[in-house]
Amino acid sequence: MPFWFFLSPEDFQNKKVTLKAELVQHLKAARLKTGDNFVLSDGLGRAFYARLDYINSKNAVASLLDEVQEKVEPSLHVTLFAGVSKGEKMDRIIRQSVELGVKKIVPVLTERTVVRLTSEKGGEKAGRWQKIAVSAASQCRRSFIPLVHSPLSFDDMAQALKKEKIAIVPWEEEKEKGLLRLTRQIEKKPGSICIFTGPEGGISPEEMAALNSIEGVYPVSLGPRILRAETAPLAILSIVMYLWGDLGRKIE
Ligand code: SAH
Repeated sequence: MPFWFFLSPEDFQNKKVTLKAELVQHLKAARLKTGDNFVLSDGLGRAFYARLDYINSKNAVASLLDEVQEKVEPSLHVTLFAGVSKGEKMDRIIRQSVELGVKKIVPVLTERTVVRLTSEKGGEKAGRWQKIAVSAASQCRRSFIPLVHSPLSFDDMAQALKKEKIAIVPWEEEKEKGLLRLTRQIEKKPGSICIFTGPEGGISPEEMAALNSIEGVYPVSLGPRILRAETAPLAILSIVMYLWGDLGRKIE
């Protein structure tokens, strides 16, 4: 698989494209030379093979070739609402959930979120997390760049979930509702789902009560062991992508 980079959607209008300095740096880091092939994606779902026609220290020109036909995006749209965890943990959640095919990530400030964020700080963080999402999407060769929303309060998330059909909430205190039951409850393959996982401090019983009053919220246990805040989203994402997404594709 060739190297994979993103280019603004409007730059795909012509067959020859002049690449901006930042992308030129990436091409150089990948040691691409004139004549080499790579892929340019618009980050909105399309990707094209490209050939490097010219490169110097600051500029590069490439020709766009055929569109990449392989379907790299899952048909299941997953929005991950993730309780904000400290430092590195959040970075890891972003990177790895992008690899697993998430469409949108919404950081959530909950009762037990340790990190305190003003809206300005939250915006800054979201900008940094968005960059992590772009680089993860490029590394795992996605044609869609998942959006990282600026952090929401728990109440705003609850409002947002009221408009959704299915919101799966892994809860560490849930002892009865297992994944098997969930798959029986959700029989028909959904087109989109939301997931909410708590921060390292967990989801409080009050928060869970509020979520339980929303139609379409499915609390679920992820088994008898407590997973870390950065493990739980990956576990549930892998499961839903296997059940209803593209992780279980048939390999001939
Ligand atoms: N501090 C809490 C654990 C929080 S784990 C405690 O020690 O009890 C962070 C989040 O991961 C949880 O809020 C939940 O959303 C998810 N999670 C972790 N383990 C889980 C499990 N066994 N079942 C369901 N959800 C789990």
